[in-house]
Amino acid sequence: MAETSILSVRGGSFMFHPAGTLPQFTAEESSEEALAIAEAARDFMNGEIMPRDEEIDRLDLELTRDLLAKAGDLGILGMEVPEAYGGLDLDKKTALLVLEEMARHASFSTSYTAHTSIGTMPIVYFGSHAQKAKYLPRLASGEWCAAYALTEAGSGSDALGAKTTAVLQDGHWVLNGTKAWITNAGFADVFVIFAKINGSHLSAFIVEKTDPGISTGAEEKKLGIKGSSTRTVILDNCRIPEDRLLGGKGKGARIALGILNVGRFKLGASSVGAGKRVLEYTLRYAGERTQFGKPLTAFGLIQQKLANMAVRIFVGESMSFRTIGYLDDALAHTSWESETGGADKMKAIDEYAMEASMSKVWGSEALFATADDSVQTFGGAGFSTEYPAEKIYRDCRINRIFEGTNEINRLLIAQTFLKRCSGAEGLPLAEAASATPQVPADSLQATVALAKARALKVIARAQTDHGPKILDNQEAAAHISNLLLELYAMESAAVRAGKMQASGHRWAALARDMAEVYAQEAWNRVQSEARMLAGELASGEALDTLMAELLAMHAPAPAPLSTLRHRITLALMEQGRYPIG
Ligand SMILES: Cc1cc2nc3c(=O)[nH]c(=O)nc-3n(C[C@H](O)[C@H](O)[C@H](O)COP(=O)(O)OP(=O)(O)OC[C@H]3O[C@@H](n4cnc5c(N)ncnc54)[C@H](O)[C@@H]3O)c2cc1C
Repeated sequence: MAETSILSVRGGSFMFHPAGTLPQFTAEESSEEALAIAEAARDFMNGEIMPRDEEIDRLDLELTRDLLAKAGDLGILGMEVPEAYGGLDLDKKTALLVLEEMARHASFSTSYTAHTSIGTMPIVYFGSHAQKAKYLPRLASGEWCAAYALTEAGSGSDALGAKTTAVLQDGHWVLNGTKAWITNAGFADVFVIFAKINGSHLSAFIVEKTDPGISTGAEEKKLGIKGSSTRTVILDNCRIPEDRLLGGKGKGARIALGILNVGRFKLGASSVGAGKRVLEYTLRYAGERTQFGKPLTAFGLIQQKLANMAVRIFVGESMSFRTIGYLDDALAHTSWESETGGADKMKAIDEYAMEASMSKVWGSEALFATADDSVQTFGGAGFSTEYPAEKIYRDCRINRIFEGTNEINRLLIAQTFLKRCSGAEGLPLAEAASATPQVPADSLQATVALAKARALKVIARAQTDHGPKILDNQEAAAHISNLLLELYAMESAAVRAGKMQASGHRWAALARDMAEVYAQEAWNRVQSEARMLAGELASGEALDTLMAELLAMHAPAPAPLSTLRHRITLALMEQGRYPIG
């Protein structure tokens, strides 16, 4: 298939092009300016945040607020705010690099993203000129902090089932209800609150902490991210001026779900950043601790864990930068000058809703696996609060729950993909599944191509035999999602490794090893997911035929993973950290 212009990269279309024929942005192509801003963020984290780790985690809210204001002085609160409203209006690639750095501290990074992303972005994309002029300069500078209040005790995953009400009385909205689990609630000045006008039209409102009738509950006692504020927000006849309605009556679902897409991209990226830090201290410990007269790093099963941590960073970063490249390009064709600028930008982001969910699910699960590998590498010390491993294990658990649980995101991935593959304009699923796969000579590319062909065959079968009804079987939907996730991950890593090789990058050989390890393991998971999905689709003779078709498909040769992982670990040990970027 011919090279496709970046604008014609539709969400989900990666399944229909051989690896490397779609454009793919990689971290190595980051601009000097973006790298300089990320370096400033790293210095800020190392200088201001990490030394105050314990104070922050004792929930010193005043400190967190002050530190957010310092981040504001640095410009990193307003990176995605238009210049006209006091921001820098930088591309999402820069925001991604900065997020990776912020993720060094899970609690602070949660406060940071709740403020800059889900708290501020609704006003950026949906605010009127007057609302933007009033709030954005203050939010970008850190003078004010923001929170996003959608969840209620009775509506979490079913987010649009909110019971909070808004009634217009004498030129004021009167809000009643209680929001649950609201990040930054303990110190936020501005809340974006979702409520139903007259009990039916879900809408968003800007509420200030000084408005009459708003208060917050006690801090939640949490498993992790203990340094981030999480409270209920109580609205008891809370009166706000009529012009605080955000985006129009009934636009709440549009705002709530659109903003969550932005949050999901970011959670994927911050999971990668956190993984880098975990690898760094785990590597150090494994190099210092000796057993049987040798450092832990000398043992193959510890090397396996260290190498897998690096592989997850490489793959996760390949996915997030690929997606953010598509996103930035789509956003570059929209303008804040236009009256519909905010809505156009949100629409551009929506195109990649599936990729956003994939980044979130894959990144959060990869980081949890890394945290688990870290605890195991520390042994008994991994179970002690004296060492860093136990903290990230607790802190990162939330990533699989908020911004839509991974179950909900898996359902969304399958649903979005199948929807994209239906109708006259749909992506050509049946056609692609029946084509004979072209298998490249390169072993890595071949593994991706063969895995893709297998996934397409079984997903196409799900669609032709069951149509959208297949989604009623949630386990089948999750198998579809897992296949798509694996393909996006393995292909993004393989293409990035290829680009690094082509440009003579210093770490090209390491990148190739990491992409190869991932592709080999992902191949096994693709086989297994395809087999399980087949079991959900057919039975008896029909299943025998489908399984025979799958088995008849060519399989790539296995690679010596221990050798690859050994080489990866040597590079890690030599550098004392994840070496790329
Ligand atoms: C520390 C923290 C910070 C948070 N910050 C914010 C914030 O700033 N703003 C905000 O609005 N919210 C916030 N939340 C809320 C968060 O988004 C919700 O907790 C999350 O969406 C899950 O909702 P729930 O807790 O009600 O779980 P439930 O929806 O009750 O889900 C329970 C389980 O059932 C599964 N499940 C539910 N529905 C389905 C289904 N249809 N199919 C299959 N499985 C299903 C879920 O995946 C989950 O495993 C935060 C939560 C926490 C813990």
